[in-house]
Amino acid sequence: MATLYHATGLVLSRRPWREADRAYAVLTPEHGKIDVIGRGASKPLAKLSSHLELCAEVHLLLVQGRTYETVAGAEQIRTFPGIYGNLSTMTLAHQGLHLIDLGTRERQADPKLYARALEWLAFVETAGPCRAERAAFLLAAFALKLLDLLGYCPELSHCLGCRTAVLPDAYRWHPLKGGIVCDACLRRFPQEWFAARPLPNEALKLVRFGIQEPFSDLLRLHLPGPLLPPFHEAVESLMAAHFPTIPALSLHEACAAC
Ligand SMILES: [Zn+2]
Repeated sequence: MATLYHATGLVLSRRPWREADRAYAVLTPEHGKIDVIGRGASKPLAKLSSHLELCAEVHLLLVQGRTYETVAGAEQIRTFPGIYGNLSTMTLAHQGLHLIDLGTRERQADPKLYARALEWLAFVETAGPCRAERAAFLLAAFALKLLDLLGYCPELSHCLGCRTAVLPDAYRWHPLKGGIVCDACLRRFPQEWFAARPLPNEALKLVRFGIQEPFSDLLRLHLPGPLLPPFHEAVESLMAAHFPTIPALSLHEACAAC
């Protein structure tokens, strides 16, 4: 038997579903990410679709069927109109939600993640226009904070093998094991750590900065150009190692239009 329930959520993505329907991925604080179907929502005049826009917080009335959950009612409760003021903020908002969609599995409730998603949209809304380089850096920092929330915060100061504090540039980076390994462990157990790769100390500091500092401070940081490629590579390698779905675009490509 079908049951009705209410949920509040953020629309992460939408895609066509069958002929006239749409499927939405919605992030909710109580139920985690849920996949719901909007019947006839693709028709231009359908009432539902206007409420189920990306980057809007919506109140939903859902019908839990045997196979699918269907949207019976939707009402916007918060929008972030400032996001649409320029291309870079729009890109950052959409790409941030896209990373949440790729990085999460369905039905894993995480109120902190929901709060972080709202915080990201509120930050982006007031961030103003920025160039592609800055946008990619902000998105990378968002990805790091997301990884942290999902339980994949990398170890950045102590060796994953022997737990001793690691000296600058006396380590390598191992995304799959989640952090850095010291030179001594690399020499002692080369087979265990063969996938470790170099990561400049200054790029490692950027990773730490991206995880720890609030979004507003990330806007003020002077961007060290040559360190951005290894920094981005480190973040992308973590996403590739831990996200259920690996992003199709690099962070730089995702922000190329900014
Ligand atoms: Zn070690």
